[in-house]
Amino acid sequence: MFKAGHFTLKPAPFTYHDPHSVDDAVDLLARHENARVLAGGQSLMPMMNFRYAMPDHLIDLNKVGELAYIHVENNALHIGAMTRQRDLEFSDDIARHCPLLKAALAHVGHRQTRNRGTLGGSLCHQDPSAELVNAAALLGATMHVVSQRGKRDLAAAEFALAYMTTALAPDEMLAGVTFPLPTQGTAHAFVEFARRHGDFAIVACSAMLGLDGKGNIAKVALAISGLAHAPVRPATIEQALLGQKADAATFKAAAAEAGKLEAGADAYVTATYRQHLARMLTYRALEQAATSATENHHG
Ligand SMILES: Cc1cc2nc3c(=O)[nH]c(=O)nc-3n(C[C@H](O)[C@H](O)[C@H](O)COP(=O)(O)OP(=O)(O)OC[C@H]3O[C@@H](n4cnc5c(N)ncnc54)[C@H](O)[C@@H]3O)c2cc1C
Repeated sequence: MFKAGHFTLKPAPFTYHDPHSVDDAVDLLARHENARVLAGGQSLMPMMNFRYAMPDHLIDLNKVGELAYIHVENNALHIGAMTRQRDLEFSDDIARHCPLLKAALAHVGHRQTRNRGTLGGSLCHQDPSAELVNAAALLGATMHVVSQRGKRDLAAAEFALAYMTTALAPDEMLAGVTFPLPTQGTAHAFVEFARRHGDFAIVACSAMLGLDGKGNIAKVALAISGLAHAPVRPATIEQALLGQKADAATFKAAAAEAGKLEAGADAYVTATYRQHLARMLTYRALEQAATSATENHHG
């Protein structure tokens, strides 16, 4: 049933497996040490070619059809881990029920990478700036994890364990994700700063905003990527926004607090610059979301 072979090209030698079902995939994960699953290959193949990743066993999920689906049920969006980013981008269900996800996808790589890249691959790769990781944090997504030992669900915040590291055990894989649907009338915005369009963002900020009858903020969520190993949901800032007028002064005050959040530095970008971007982008995200929320209100 499985085709197996040895390859010695640019990557270190590995054995290739192509299961056709989740049961077979988790069986392979349980039986083999140092195994990695292959989704769209947009991050894993370069990492293997550079020998940053050297799995002995590569378990290709591309023939596991049951992992590719999008459906709306019980006020939530259910997406299979192997659903291509391109299919998410053009899904009517996502455009209608969860436009934040569509807005985030517009910043993910390029058409070519989205053709192959999957939702699950992006979430499991857990780049700190990945837009889909940010959207999962903002929307409070639940990750459905499977192994031969059984199934378990993890909140997005629990799933992101450390820098580019998920809470998945070596014998586990991500099967699907549930995104609770934003409530009616809630507006969103996704903004980021990247050196070039299609690059990973240096800092990204998403916002969800709902207004009450007087135009005050009744619901709010913010997720800021690029400061830490995972998107930051600044609870204190969100709390302080509730009940406030959705105006420039309110957003400026929230943005000033976002600019004080702890930020990491690397060889290319200082912590101070990341904080500056967090401040600017928080303001823009809130302002854009408020404009849409006001239009929803009157429209
Ligand atoms: C030029 C370029 C530009 C890019 N720009 C961006 C960008 O701006 N923003 C962005 O977010 N991404 C960007 N990416 C990355 C892209 O979105 C990838 O598709 C994504 O990071 C990985 O998805 P994949 O399906 O290709 O996964 P793969 O590369 O196949 O796998 C990535 C990792 O996830 C693991 N994995 C995959 N699926 C599962 C699963 N179901 N269960 C457990 N583990 C799993 C793999 O073992 C591997 O460790 C870019 C990539 C390229 C090549």
